[in-house]
Amino acid sequence: MGTVRDGHLAADVVVVGTGNAALNAALSAAKEGRRTVVLEKAPRDRMGGNSFYTAGAYRIAVDDVETLAGILGEDGMRERVRPATDLPTYSAKEFERDLDRITGGRTDPVLAQQIIDGSAETARWLRDQGVPWTLMYDRQSHHVDGRWQFWGGLFLGVEGQGPVLVDRLYQACLRAGVTFHFETPVVDLGFDDRLRHVEHVVAYDLREQRPVRIDAHAVVLGSGGFEANPRLRAAYLGPGWDLAHVRGTPFNTGELLETAVGSWAGSAGEWSGAHATAWDASTNPHAGDPELSNRATKQGYWLGIVVNLHGERFLDEGADFRNFTYAKYGREILAQPSRRAFQIFDSQTIALVDPAEYDPDVAPRVMADTIEGLAEGAGIDAPSLRRTVDRFNAAASDAPFDPTSRDGKAAADLWPPKSNWAVPIEQPPFYAFEVTCGITFTFGGLRVDGDAGVIGRTGQRIAGLYAAGETVGGIFYGNYPGGSGLSAGAVLGRRAGLAAAAE
Ligand SMILES: Cc1cc2nc3c(=O)[nH]c(=O)nc-3n(C[C@H](O)[C@H](O)[C@H](O)COP(=O)(O)OP(=O)(O)OC[C@H]3O[C@@H](n4cnc5c(N)ncnc54)[C@H](O)[C@@H]3O)c2cc1C
Repeated sequence: MGTVRDGHLAADVVVVGTGNAALNAALSAAKEGRRTVVLEKAPRDRMGGNSFYTAGAYRIAVDDVETLAGILGEDGMRERVRPATDLPTYSAKEFERDLDRITGGRTDPVLAQQIIDGSAETARWLRDQGVPWTLMYDRQSHHVDGRWQFWGGLFLGVEGQGPVLVDRLYQACLRAGVTFHFETPVVDLGFDDRLRHVEHVVAYDLREQRPVRIDAHAVVLGSGGFEANPRLRAAYLGPGWDLAHVRGTPFNTGELLETAVGSWAGSAGEWSGAHATAWDASTNPHAGDPELSNRATKQGYWLGIVVNLHGERFLDEGADFRNFTYAKYGREILAQPSRRAFQIFDSQTIALVDPAEYDPDVAPRVMADTIEGLAEGAGIDAPSLRRTVDRFNAAASDAPFDPTSRDGKAAADLWPPKSNWAVPIEQPPFYAFEVTCGITFTFGGLRVDGDAGVIGRTGQRIAGLYAAGETVGGIFYGNYPGGSGLSAGAVLGRRAGLAAAAE
């Protein structure tokens, strides 16, 4: 087959993007023997979208440890599972309940069911394609009474995280005969007169500086959300969001999504909602750092307290396991003065935070022997911080601390309360980490059915057109259970690729 630089091409399946969703789709289509072409806006060395930046955490439903062992494979069990590990399970019912409660009952039930039911089988398929699975000891387990115990329903991850996930999928695609064209953003699609069937893709070759058209039987959109576009963030998410820091790829700027919902596609989901977390305030606001990657995230807040510049707490740090709160707390931080907050720890609690996120080489900090000294060093109102810490310490219950459960060790007689893990902040030295709002991805997107088929503006399914990953709306609302972006993208990406191959 020719190259895209011929100006006019034909393929069986065109896939847009090189993130997790797109690569799962491309690989699935190519393995069905279809001529598959991938078009990516970024250059080759920046491929992989947000998927590259991930911790590789992948939420799956597994009812029994045998299924999990099967996903990890013999080599995974032998080489990566530590002795004295309580192999975790997480049933489909638990996944369903978590997704439902975390999204306030709004998640699309059809898509949710597909994702939950397909999560384990897709993980197993991914292993067969070369993705090395491991258990995420560092981020998701605690060593208690001599045994490794996992918490929060999230335990499976890619050994080597996002970069390895993207690389293994890319290599598998190449082996399956997929053709890649980088620096070739898709700008629009072409349809038959009645918007019943997709017919071609219009892209722009940035190197040759000319448009290209590719005729296709089917197209899969995996081009992410609009989180890296400050104008669209302000327009959809609201005032101030243009100033949030971008955690991942700078290439997810949403123009194709905007064109789609503006002219031919139905839209779905919470367009004013986004996944956003506590993020190192000293980072580049416009893009994640491919070297530092997810280490700029600061998810140890559940062990300490979080205050604003006025020294006041404004959220319940221990409302739930952090897997179920971190994605909504970025919004709370954005609402604070100067969009800044400080995570405060003492010498007991700092010992428990994840070193990957808090080691001095990745996490600027202020350290002091007194709360007043800490406030002064960090630029926080000192008398107010003193009051906040005193009140918090006085309210903290004497119940035993247990990081593996919602331990009920609360500071309840406060507003906001800290519902669990309320360890008093009393042993110097004290630490402050300055964070801001880091946006991960946006929740609004295209409307799809259970086969990842795109529903057009007319309410009819557009034959041959599919979407997966962050491009799809309707799965997450207001909040997000950690690790479900990758499983959602993989399951729907794979479905999309198989359905596209059958067109
Ligand atoms: C720091 C960080 C850590 C994360 N950790 C996790 C985790 O551990 N587990 C988890 O489940 N989720 C995690 N996430 C969320 C996760 O990244 C997403 O849910 C998932 O990777 C999205 O995959 P995707 O394929 O939809 O999009 P992406 O991976 O973002 O891929 C979109 C691709 O489309 C390309 N593109 C955009 N526009 C065009 C266009 N017009 N034409 C052609 N190409 C285009 C982009 O360049 C990009 O390559 C994390 C995100 C970040 C930023």
